[in-house]
Amino acid sequence: MVKGRIFSGMQPSGKFHLGNYLGALENWVKLQKDYECFFSIVDWHALTSSYEDTSKLQQNIFDMALDWLSAGLDPEHNVIFVQSHVKEHAELHLLLSMMTPLSWLERVPTYKDKIQQLGNQGKDINTYGFMGYPELMTADILLYKADTVPVGEDQLPHLELSREIARRFNHMYKPIFPEPNPFLSKASLLPGIDGRKMSKSYGNEIPFAASPDELRARVRQMITDPQRVKKSDPGNPDVCTVYTFHKIYSPDELESIGTACRQATIGCVECKKRLAERMVTALADIHTRRIALEANPGRVKEILEYGAERARAVAAATMAEVRQVMNLS
Ligand code: SF4
Repeated sequence: MVKGRIFSGMQPSGKFHLGNYLGALENWVKLQKDYECFFSIVDWHALTSSYEDTSKLQQNIFDMALDWLSAGLDPEHNVIFVQSHVKEHAELHLLLSMMTPLSWLERVPTYKDKIQQLGNQGKDINTYGFMGYPELMTADILLYKADTVPVGEDQLPHLELSREIARRFNHMYKPIFPEPNPFLSKASLLPGIDGRKMSKSYGNEIPFAASPDELRARVRQMITDPQRVKKSDPGNPDVCTVYTFHKIYSPDELESIGTACRQATIGCVECKKRLAERMVTALADIHTRRIALEANPGRVKEILEYGAERARAVAAATMAEVRQVMNLS
């Protein structure tokens, strides 16, 4: 039985790395079994902070769709679409913005931090669009009357704002929107190959699209226990990046690897080989799906068009109701 309806979106900002996959996408793949899901590539959201250079936008949208489908999101079971292909998002955003006090948007905790953070990188996001980001997110969710939204802890204030806006609308006009509840998802603990947070800006990422040979090469480059110089030196797995990956990919062998490392009965080369093969096996289905989709890019576009059609049907019905209760029809 379906537990509820989910809306979730991601900004198209380039190809995924493994940390992105484990942080959110893997969770979506699990959720699709129990929920009716609307998954959107939120390209308008990407413009709220990157509006000047849009030259890579279409490629990024395509890459994101490829990542999602390779990961195993089912385009028949879920509605997978691009936000800007469903214009009702903009209409609901506009109407909700009429009744949202400015102070509600100003007090979102990440608002000022993000302006400063991106300002330091030379980006000016002192814009109307950026301030309205949580408003657009609210429109995304309410348009599909989603009752559940997977979020990380840092996004809880955004969702609380969405609930407040839904409540205000329901009170002011008619109660047509459910107040969306958070489904807390854990952030990925996967480090980059140098042990720092996995990030493309550090160059320490493992691409989600990596082939088996690329995976093996990235694992070979991983930082191990820096105190372990020779194979005969006992190691400390607790400070080793390879071991952190084993926690995810070799849980059944974890204890024996840890002991072997401490007793110097396994060398780092062998330990890395074992990890690499585990990862290749774990990601094999994803890799196979990616190869098939890459050979047929038209199929990816068809899936997005099909998703937009289905999303539009639900969005149109919601907007008809909204217009009616607001005396706009
Ligand atoms: Fe890390 Fe494995 Fe080497 Fe131990 S044996 S330091 S866990 S790579």
